[in-house]
Amino acid sequence: MSQIDDLPPLREVLANHELNAKKALGQNFLLDLNLTQKIARTAGDLEGTHVIEVGPGPGGLTRAILSLGAERLTVIERDSRCLPALEEIAGHYPGRLEIIEGDALKVDFAEIAGGRPIRIIANLPYNVGTQLLVNWLLPKAWSPYWQSLTLMFQKEVAQRIVAEPGDSHYGRLGVLAGWRTEARIAFDVPPQAFTPPPKVTSSVVHLTPRAKPIAVEAAALEKITQAAFGQRRKMLRQSLKSLGGEALLQKADIDPTRRAETLSVEEFCTLARVL
Ligand code: SAM
Repeated sequence: MSQIDDLPPLREVLANHELNAKKALGQNFLLDLNLTQKIARTAGDLEGTHVIEVGPGPGGLTRAILSLGAERLTVIERDSRCLPALEEIAGHYPGRLEIIEGDALKVDFAEIAGGRPIRIIANLPYNVGTQLLVNWLLPKAWSPYWQSLTLMFQKEVAQRIVAEPGDSHYGRLGVLAGWRTEARIAFDVPPQAFTPPPKVTSSVVHLTPRAKPIAVEAAALEKITQAAFGQRRKMLRQSLKSLGGEALLQKADIDPTRRAETLSVEEFCTLARVL
């Protein structure tokens, strides 16, 4: 394993601070700094950037982001046991690491960005990952305050994010992500790369915002996708019955006998607009 800084190896950090992983906090740590650098590099050239990391834990990804030149890194961690390890990193990179103890679901990311471009990089806790992504995809106004999201998810969730019409994984998440971003799976990470290993494979997803997504209200799009995929095996005239059924589909010029998984993001946007 290559040395990326003069801080102790992560196994030592876990032992020194008695950081035994807690399942309730979605703690699956990455201890290989080559791998955390690979994740951080997926976000592009970090030299001189401001990055926000959710759930730094003992700091493996944190150290990678700083070693790759981020000028400023803001981390948000819920588990106070991790703070001493993070303070050690802050001491090693004076003035560059800002530590916020708290729940990322309650943090105002736009305020942290302060009107300047940021990148978000995280090995997300599996229990709040999807909700955080939806929050980043649906800010009140577009254009977004972030330049990119580079995020670790369970592979099955990653497949749902990047899914295209016709894919078995295509659903609400794929429509929301496809509407406002270009999303791709950068690479998979096997369970044994984590401590402790989760049951399933994970994937790193990289998302960049579309400059001009189709203009439509997020709430309407959410309503349509929820109804359509809530009964994904049914024809749209049935699954969208409570929202106008055949009449709505006719207005949008969409065949009422089609099923949700065959509709493109553009077609969902048309439906949301005529709703
Ligand atoms: N980034 C570290 C790594 O790659 O080794 C840890 C990743 S671990 C999958 C998820 C981290 O998120 C844990 O450190 C956990 O304590 C933290 N966490 C869990 N829920 C959180 C929340 N709601 N807000 C902020 N951090 C959270």
